[in-house]
Amino acid sequence: MSGTAARRRPVIAIDGPAASGKSTAGKALADRLGYLYIDTGALYRAVGWLASQAGITPENPEGLADLMAKTPITLAGDASDRKVLVGGRDVSGEIRTEEIGHLASAFSALPQVREALLGIQRRLGAGGGVVMDGRDIGTVIFPDAEVKIFLSASDRERSRRRWRELSDRGERSDPEEVRRELGRRDSRDRNRPHAPLRTAPDAVSIDSTGLSPEQVLERILAVVEARA
Ligand code: C5P
Repeated sequence: MSGTAARRRPVIAIDGPAASGKSTAGKALADRLGYLYIDTGALYRAVGWLASQAGITPENPEGLADLMAKTPITLAGDASDRKVLVGGRDVSGEIRTEEIGHLASAFSALPQVREALLGIQRRLGAGGGVVMDGRDIGTVIFPDAEVKIFLSASDRERSRRRWRELSDRGERSDPEEVRRELGRRDSRDRNRPHAPLRTAPDAVSIDSTGLSPEQVLERILAVVEARA
């Protein structure tokens, strides 16, 4: 039970595949409503970073649960300057690489990782007034969220956006390889046995292909007005 009774303001869940525009829309929405914005992918990326520092691989994750139990993963700052801290160290920049994204995706399939991050996510959203984006927010973390959006975009558009994001950060990448990596990530996220990426039955689906960020925000706001 994720606790509707205790909340006065809604939880807005935005789920969807990689590079579908969740964080752009989530930040803008939270900003417009004066809500807290939580990008849960950052928590999985933090786990990928932590494991890689300790030499733990997704194929051989022994010791990861213990390491996670003694290394706090916390979020600080606000949406415009979010900090991700692992054991007190600021890893906000380091977790944004393709390599850590890949590790995050592989580790996120492990039940012990999902279990460890479930409590953190529920605590962050417990008071409501939060926009939370991820893969299983509306299905597992807050199945009773007042508003659920499933955001998608065509494979082509998502690859283009991800490639541009990486280039803007100075990470050189081959567009074909970016497309293949997104495909691998989608397939892993959709086919894992624990908390796979799925559209919640009560979610509103929005296809952001060809829409501007402002248009996506307007569509989500219309759903919020109707539901919250
Ligand atoms: O959203 P982002 O690409 O930063 O997430 C990194 C990876 O973390 C995703 O590919 C996905 O496998 C995993 N993830 C997840 N559940 C979430 C958020 C992210 O499994 N709620």
